[in-house]
Amino acid sequence: MTKILSLVLGLSLLACADTALAADKPLVIAHRGASGYLPEHTLEAKALAYGMRPDYIEQDLVLSRDNHLIVMHDIHLDSTTDVATVFPRRARADGHYYTIDFTLAELKQLRVSEAFIQSGDGPTQKFPGRFPLGRSSFQLSTLEEEIELIQGLNETLGYDIGLYPEIKKPAFHHREGRDIAALALRALKRYGYTDRKQKIFLQSFDAEELQRIDRELMPKLEMDLPLVQLIAMTSWGEKRVEVGGELVNYDYSWMREKGGLEKIAGYADGIGPWAMMLVAQQDGDIAPTALLPRAQQLGLAVYPYTFRADRVPAQLESFDALLQLFVGELGVDGLFTDHPDQARAFINEFTE
Ligand code: CA
Repeated sequence: MTKILSLVLGLSLLACADTALAADKPLVIAHRGASGYLPEHTLEAKALAYGMRPDYIEQDLVLSRDNHLIVMHDIHLDSTTDVATVFPRRARADGHYYTIDFTLAELKQLRVSEAFIQSGDGPTQKFPGRFPLGRSSFQLSTLEEEIELIQGLNETLGYDIGLYPEIKKPAFHHREGRDIAALALRALKRYGYTDRKQKIFLQSFDAEELQRIDRELMPKLEMDLPLVQLIAMTSWGEKRVEVGGELVNYDYSWMREKGGLEKIAGYADGIGPWAMMLVAQQDGDIAPTALLPRAQQLGLAVYPYTFRADRVPAQLESFDALLQLFVGELGVDGLFTDHPDQARAFINEFTE
């Protein structure tokens, strides 16, 4: 073997070791982009997040009337856009403006702002101190536009930042006669995300839909993406199901009861629990629950949500103390954060 060839081989072995090492670090997942600093799910928030070097950037997906995958968190436009001013007559009987009732061309007419709560005195910011309401100019965008942004930045900056899309409310979309999971998978496939070699996780709060994706849709499309089961509290009404002609909250309790994680391990690679499910109050202190070690024993990665520098629990003195608890003591495999720069800085320091 020539000296140069062995040098090249040595370097590539080194590069492999580096990659393996990087994978051992807890993952930073930019929750709706750098949403602590710019309006969530805007391309601007994604570009800013990208510069903060997360491992993944999250995309929540909802369908438009003409079957475009819109990157937004709610199935309603009410709390992040000016839809009530632009299309005042288009609310449904329940008072909500549904994304699925608007075409992409109509959605592009809306201005996006920081999330707000509407009250008698007008809108107030959901997170005081974040990007000011009504300033600058932001739009909704499609999954394709966001993938092209991230893939384009992967080319210009040379990092390898992944996608972490979420199929929002598949049961709602089915009731509207739509198959959002199939449309999302086809779009991901068009952009080269077909198997575990690409940097991607696909997540949903809907266990039945994830199983359908795993057993039916992905085999049919010759895809094999890693899946993450998000876990909600039943009371949130994250999934609504019809029982006796009425819509009721889907019962999430089985996921954390005996046999639940084993079932999830049959179709998913990880879980995305609410962070508070991993800890419990014990004599005024915070102690770990069994959920994380049980999941990890079954080979499930654990990526809790949502870590916010401006919402630190009262018992902890700082965001770093919160990260220390979950990364340093509990040993999560990654986390969703509105402040990817701060999580990245902490994890870099912690794993040095
Ligand atoms: Ca999400």
